[in-house]
Amino acid sequence: MNIDSIQDGIVIDHITAGQGMKLYRLLGLDELDVSIALIKNVVSRKLGRKDIIKIDADIPVNIDIIGFVDPGATVNFIRHGELVEKRSIAMPETLTNVIRCKNPRCITSSEQELAQVFKLTDRVNKVYRCAYCETKWTG
Ligand code: ZN
Repeated sequence: MNIDSIQDGIVIDHITAGQGMKLYRLLGLDELDVSIALIKNVVSRKLGRKDIIKIDADIPVNIDIIGFVDPGATVNFIRHGELVEKRSIAMPETLTNVIRCKNPRCITSSEQELAQVFKLTDRVNKVYRCAYCETKWTG
């Protein structure tokens, strides 16, 4: 795979250095049978160091997960070798089935069919709380 010549795919750029692997895992990229490059500690004028993920396949990615892990990242969509869309992202208000509540007394612990829903309650400090028991998410 030539990482500089993606034909159809997605480049997640400006990831805070060190967050690339976490994002890779949360997006479930390790389970996909497509060409993916995780490039760590790239020198960046803007950030000093950054991580980049290049996906050489036209697959859906969950933008909410990217916004949760790293709201400063940008997502570039490549079609036929051209950049067709560059999207800035923000922390999502609601996260569904991305992280799990750690409170053993939470209703989601006993009722496994319930969706794991978290709400953003403090955008400045990046605080997410379980929608059922309000337990704060700690990474
Ligand atoms: Zn809960």
